Amino acid sequence: MTTATPTTAITDIATLVTNDPSLGEGPLGLIRDAAVVIDGDHIAWVGESSRAPATDNRVDAGGRAVIPGFVDSHSHLVFAGDRTEEFNARMSGRPYSAGGIRTTVAATRAASNNVLHANVGRYVAEARRQGTTTVEIKSGYGLTSQDEARALTIAGAHTDEVTFLGAHIVAPEFADDPAGYVELVTGPMLDACAPHARWIDVFCEQGAFDGDQARTILTAGKERGLIPRVHANQLSYGPGVRLAVELGAASADHCTHLTEADVDALAQGETVATLLPGAEFSTRSTYPDARRLLDAGVTVALSPDCNPGSSFTSSMPFCVALAVREMGMTPDEAVWAATAGGARALRRTDVGRVSPGARADLALLDAPSHVHLAYRPGVPLVSAVWHGGTLI
Ligand SMILES: [Zn+2]
Repeated sequence: MTTATPTTAITDIATLVTNDPSLGEGPLGLIRDAAVVIDGDHIAWVGESSRAPATDNRVDAGGRAVIPGFVDSHSHLVFAGDRTEEFNARMSGRPYSAGGIRTTVAATRAASNNVLHANVGRYVAEARRQGTTTVEIKSGYGLTSQDEARALTIAGAHTDEVTFLGAHIVAPEFADDPAGYVELVTGPMLDACAPHARWIDVFCEQGAFDGDQARTILTAGKERGLIPRVHANQLSYGPGVRLAVELGAASADHCTHLTEADVDALAQGETVATLLPGAEFSTRSTYPDARRLLDAGVTVALSPDCNPGSSFTSSMPFCVALAVREMGMTPDEAVWAATAGGARALRRTDVGRVSPGARADLALLDAPSHVHLAYRPGVPLVSAVWHGGTLI
């Protein structure tokens, strides 16, 4: 005799976003008056509420909406220190001359493991309360072999999606020798970090790493089995996006300054364009043109880009609202990008959808439809979250 895990049906769902067009209407696979059955950590059944099979437990959604848990494919959560004053100065029109990322690097190096673990745990929990059930976490505030490996180990205690970003900026010790820093990143630092990461990322930008350096770093990572992703074309036009497509990167992130050739490359390649509107919001910058990318057939993901410098928000609902209001996305497109798009950017097929076999990662909204995420900005609509079948 086998002991089955208890099954739970969530019934009376006014609008269910499945992201599986074979299950319902439109690209979101919408089902009205729906039910979802959870068996252990996965989805066992979805369909009309009136046809839901018998289960051990039952949760009445009371005419509210259920969506897949958000998939956040871009965060920088392993850090210590505080940059409130930098933000305050920027928003007050005062020049700010402190070291930006370097400030965080110094504080992160000085922090204990316990402090860093607690910080990551706090921000992951914060994101989860807002409906995020999968989060990628990058290193990038250590910039020594030891500190980067430590950041990855800490990130790995909180997620499977761990990204080595030793090439965030040139470490302060190498300010006069950027080539020496690239040698470190592709040599001893990669040796120390590759076992702890799935992905490798580089900040390809003026003042960070140019196209040749980025290519060297990403290629070295690929040779160690890491899959590239790229901070590309955030602050200026440049080679980042085309390099990402050429190297088969999972995503090109930011994509704010794009030429026609960049858009064409994204449309023809497999690389997802991950848009991070929290960064433009928090720096009063021009948003990326999501409409242009979508009209060209590019796969778009959304992420809050949670980091202490340019976007200190973990809120995917906030990004959905920004994407609709400021970037030309429809509410359906934004919700898809925040769920299925994030899953594409992480090359995951088990999350970002609500269909049989997927992980039981769900968000219940205190609203009758997913459109309210954009229609009611700033309102905490996520009222319950299931993570791997567990109600949290
Ligand atoms: Zn970033």
